[in-house]
Formats: sequence, structure tokens, C-alpha cells
Amino acid sequence: MEYTGIEIWFVTGAQLLYGGDAVVAVDAHSTAIVAGLNQSGQLPLQVVYKGTVNSSAEVEATLKEANNNKRCAGIITWMHTFSPAKMWIKGLQNYRKPLLHLHTQFNREIPWSEIDMDFMNLNQSAHGDREFGHIVSRMHKNRKVVVGHWADPNVQARIAVWMRVCAAWADAQDMILVRFGDNMNQVAVTDGDRLEAELRLGYHVDYYGIGDLAEVQKTVTEANIDSLVDEYETLYTLADNCRKGTAHYEQIRHAARIEIALRRFLKEKGAKAFTTNFNALHDLNQLPGLACQRLMAEGYGFGAEGDWKTAALMRTMWVMAKGLPGGTSFLEDYTYHFNGEKSAILQAHMLEVSPEITAQKPRLEVHPLGIGGKADPARLVFTAHPGAGWAATIVDMGNRFRMIANKVEVIEPEAALPKLPVASALWIPQPNLEIGAAAWIWAGGTHHTSFSYALTHEFLEDYADIAGIELLAIDEHTTLAGFKTELKLNEVYYLLNK
Ligand code: MN
Repeated sequence: MEYTGIEIWFVTGAQLLYGGDAVVAVDAHSTAIVAGLNQSGQLPLQVVYKGTVNSSAEVEATLKEANNNKRCAGIITWMHTFSPAKMWIKGLQNYRKPLLHLHTQFNREIPWSEIDMDFMNLNQSAHGDREFGHIVSRMHKNRKVVVGHWADPNVQARIAVWMRVCAAWADAQDMILVRFGDNMNQVAVTDGDRLEAELRLGYHVDYYGIGDLAEVQKTVTEANIDSLVDEYETLYTLADNCRKGTAHYEQIRHAARIEIALRRFLKEKGAKAFTTNFNALHDLNQLPGLACQRLMAEGYGFGAEGDWKTAALMRTMWVMAKGLPGGTSFLEDYTYHFNGEKSAILQAHMLEVSPEITAQKPRLEVHPLGIGGKADPARLVFTAHPGAGWAATIVDMGNRFRMIANKVEVIEPEAALPKLPVASALWIPQPNLEIGAAAWIWAGGTHHTSFSYALTHEFLEDYADIAGIELLAIDEHTTLAGFKTELKLNEVYYLLNK
């Protein structure tokens, strides 16, 4: 299992109308389905069968228990027989965790020569699940609906996606995000309502002065730094002027000191994400570049210039993608390459891009940085590997949070970039730059994104549904006319559904 400490509950709806034999059969079928799901090897979380619910009191008790149980990250429901849905009202009114409605049945095929009315009455998910669907829709409860036979790998893959999102959602509910300094300068799009973020998305944002981190630097010993620099030498190709005895070796050691202090600080606070601010560095020797890159690769969410929403989203996307190939990183739209249908955006940042997204051995280099007024910072330099992925952001529209997500195709640069002193990724936003960038701008998206090769639209859709936030997805099917209509319709929808 990819995640520890959490599990998904499986609750079967039925009723007592069909007698004791039916209840026993429903229970046996449910047990077999749950065992089959767990043995499939397709799911990142354990499924725990919580029995059959046959009454309003049983539904309410089970869903209350799910709310209160720390291990439970979500519930899968399935109506084996007709489960009159009035009995789900009280339970669903209070249920606060993710919900997946698995619309399946125990047998894959109709047993043509055997089928009789007893079989029909026992295996009636086709209408039992419709009754359940009605009350969930009537109550305006978001949930994922997965249709198909439970042993079908495609069905299991869709459950697996939802489970990963459940894990990330659970992770966000006790996320502490450390913010060194405020949002930078007068930047609008990276700011927002932190109180609403905690109410709606779960994570808590805490301010710390950079002096608090500078104090922790004093606890870092020369021996601590020696061993981390040894690690750098193993993992990366050090530039000639960064090796021991050369001009920038001390800058590498300063970077190591900052990294150790930052990791200690975050651990001490129990933080899962953080932001930095290059205008507020005080007793730090350099802007933390290398430290941010390496902490991102360990799973810490990161946002530059005080961008706490992107930092939290990056952590969430990293948890969703845990163990999957590809990598996840903070990125920024930097420079365009106009070239017809191949027009692309060079993604980078001043320093902070996660080495998770490259197949290369990163180079460790030190170069001057014109901003921040500090010494030359260390950074890992590399190019992201080719492949499809999704870049996402969350912006605060005043009356709601909006997630904007764009499918992108990372491509190899046409030529080497020998003078670019930072990590980068070159991508073509789908369906192309003209439509992708225009839609993004109309939606009010950030210049910062959280990007992952491992995730698809389905992950982000599941997340937006669980969080109850708006999602605007831009992909190969997007047209500008359709997108503008969606923006207008959403304005009305979110005005009416506060
Ligand atoms: Mn930036």
C-alpha cells in the first residue's frame, strides 16, 4: 500500500425485505468484492468492509463513525439490493468525508439459463443504485460515481485515482504551511483568503519571520554540513568552481547550512509546505534555491514569493502522485517560443524547480542573482524530461476558489541552453499556445503552477469535487468559444450556490 495510517471503508446498502438468506448472500458478496479489490494489486489504500446497512439508524451510526475515525479517508457505497434511500438522509446530512458510489454488481454476466426471480431480487444494483443516486443528488452531495464490474481493471484504476485523492485530501486536513515573510510586493494572484482556505481546503497557513530560520542556522554544525555536501557530491555533478578548494565551495556550504536549518525548522513545526520571499532574507547568506529544490523532491509543498496557495497545492499533488513515475514540481511561466503549432512556454523559476521532473543527473552550480541583494546562490540545473502532464493552480475569485488546470506536453528544447543558469521545462499547453494561454488568462490563472507528469484530469476533478471548488480544465478538446461560455455559466452557478 502506498499510504500508511489511512484506509477506505466499504459500506453496502440493502434492506430486510428479502429475508435472512438474502442478507447473508449480500454480506458474502460484499466480502468477496472487498477481498477482490484488495487482492487486485491496483489500489493504493486498503479497503475495509464495514458491513451491510439496513436502516436509517445503521446508516447514521456507520457514517458518524467514519467521520470520527482518523483512519477512514473516505467511503465507497454500493447498493446490492434495493436500499430505500430515505434511510440514507440522516447519515448523509452529517457525512463530511469523500464519497465514491461504486455502481457495480456481484456477477459479471446474466446467467441466462439459470436466472429466476430470486436471482433478480438479490442482484438488483441496477435499480438499487439509482435510488441511492437520487437522494445524493437531491442533497447536492458531491461524490464520484464509478460504473462497471468491480473486477474490471478500468474500474479499479478509477477507484485508485480517487483513493490517491482521498489520501491527499486527508493529508491536507492537518497540513501546516510555513510562510517566511508575506506575499511579495503587490502581487495579486498569489494572495487570497487564508481563513477561507482553512475552512474549505483544510490547510493552515502560519507566518514566521526569516529571523526564526536564521536562528536555527546557528544549530547546524560543520560536521552536519560536511555530510550533506558529501551527499551533493554523490547525487549531482558539481560545477568546476563549486568543488572543494575552488571559488564557490563556501557558497555550496552556506546552501547546505540553510537546507539543514530549513528542514529542521519545518520538522519542528510539523509543516508539510512552505513559502519564501526574496525581499526578506536578513541573516541568510543567499536565497534558498538548492534547499527548496531538494525539499520539494522530499514532498514538501513549495511556493515562491509567498505563494501559499501554490505551495499547498504542490504538496497535495505530490501526495496524489506518490510512488507514480514522472515527478511533481512548482514552476513558473517564463518565456515564449513562438513557432506556429509548436509554440511553447519555457517554464523555470529564479532557482526553485524540483529535480523530481528530470531524468538527468542535475548539475550543482553557483551563479550571481541580481535580486534579493545577497550572495550568489547555489542551485540544481537540469532540463525536464519529455512527456504529458498537468499544470494546475488555485486562485481566489472573491466568492470562491477556482482551480484552473492545463494539460501540457513537455518537449525537448530545440537546442542546448548553455547560458541558462536554472532548471527548466519547455512545454506546449494543450490544445496549443494560442488557445491554452488565452483560456488560462481569461480564467485569471497564476504565473505560478504546480505541475505533475503523474496526474490526469481525473485526479484534479476528484479533488475539486471533494473540496467543492470550481474546476476549469483546458485540454486538447478546449475551444475558446466553449471556454468563454463555461466561464459565464460558472459565474451564475457560483452566485446561486454559495
Ligand atoms: Mn515567481
